[in-house]
Amino acid sequence: MTRDYTSVDADVFLPTYRRLPIEIDRAEGAEIVARDGTRYLDLLGGIAVNAAGHSHPSIIEAVERQVRRYAHVSNFLVQDAQVEFAERLTRLSGYPHLFLSNSGTEAIEGALKLVRKHGSERGRSKVIAFEGAFHGRSYGALSLMHKPKYKEGMGPFLQDIVTLPYNDVERLREEIDGNTAGIFVEFLQGEGGIIEASSAFIEELSTAQKEHNLLIVADEIQAGAGRTGEFFSFSSLPIHPDLVTMAKVIGGGLPLGAILATEALRDVWGPGAHGTTFGGNPVSCAAGSALLDLLEDGLMESAAETGTLLKRGLRALQELYPSTILDIRGRGCIIGVLFPFDASDIVSRLLERGIVANATSTTVLRLLPPYLLAPAQVDRFVNTLGEVIESMDS
Ligand code: PLP
Repeated sequence: MTRDYTSVDADVFLPTYRRLPIEIDRAEGAEIVARDGTRYLDLLGGIAVNAAGHSHPSIIEAVERQVRRYAHVSNFLVQDAQVEFAERLTRLSGYPHLFLSNSGTEAIEGALKLVRKHGSERGRSKVIAFEGAFHGRSYGALSLMHKPKYKEGMGPFLQDIVTLPYNDVERLREEIDGNTAGIFVEFLQGEGGIIEASSAFIEELSTAQKEHNLLIVADEIQAGAGRTGEFFSFSSLPIHPDLVTMAKVIGGGLPLGAILATEALRDVWGPGAHGTTFGGNPVSCAAGSALLDLLEDGLMESAAETGTLLKRGLRALQELYPSTILDIRGRGCIIGVLFPFDASDIVSRLLERGIVANATSTTVLRLLPPYLLAPAQVDRFVNTLGEVIESMDS
């Protein structure tokens, strides 16, 4: 008799997640295989994590090799797995220094502490962030966020943090003063609905960075690590952030986050200023190095090509259903499709037909697929979305 994990799960866990009705058995490439044998096309990618798809052989091999040597020793020892990973990440990113964490929210938390420490030496404490942003669930990260749904009943939050409308140049200019220590920004907002920073906004941020001697922190946790077809979502933009937070993709499916820093910030923290037991875990670093090697070996270009295929299919659908598909946004493997209604209905109808995706900002269907999809998988998604739209019209 097969066990009913779903009901035990619902009994035991604090009910923070709305689980999908899938009990997973295993996952391969872009597919999740359920315990009942159903094969789902995974366009959520573990929420922007599985760039190389599931169960990639080189990641499995790297993890096995490391876990047989040892799984954990602490950050008191020098570890080749961490150094190998750090060398790859600094080379690919162009940032010379880093700190390793376990998750995105911890990278944000650390970056916020670093900004405040840097600011304290200059008599500054104010931090600016933006509406629509998602930075994580710790108090620091939540303090940077505006959306009441994440914060209700959990206050008080950190002081001296201001959230401004995204892409509002005037408000940004008004808010920056001699007390501003730093600005946290997603150049491509993920949770916020796949929204790009405008050229004028980027120019204003760059001017503020130069003229006010404040730190710009780019949150690349969702849009970075090759997802747009370039290493960072800001790689082609005329701005060089002082700090970058990363997570998700860089661990190759294992928990790993990073704060990247410019040369000038090398010594803001001394020994003991920050730390973590598991951050930079060697098994995660081994998986991360294997993943970064794949990115360098063509996976990043694949993200751009997959994005082009997906967008081509989506545009063809938009021509057929212009009053249902209002907009297609994003780049590479971070794509948002805007509907004139709650997109969670689309998500459940896609799931009934074997496709996993999710909705964000209520009306946006969000795709965060592996960077390499077969053309047949793209067709499967586009045809299924067409069927779903048809089924809603009737
Ligand atoms: N920042 C961004 C842009 C994110 O998308 C996320 C997670 O979705 C986070 C931070 C938080 O990362 P984590 O869930 O690893 O703590």
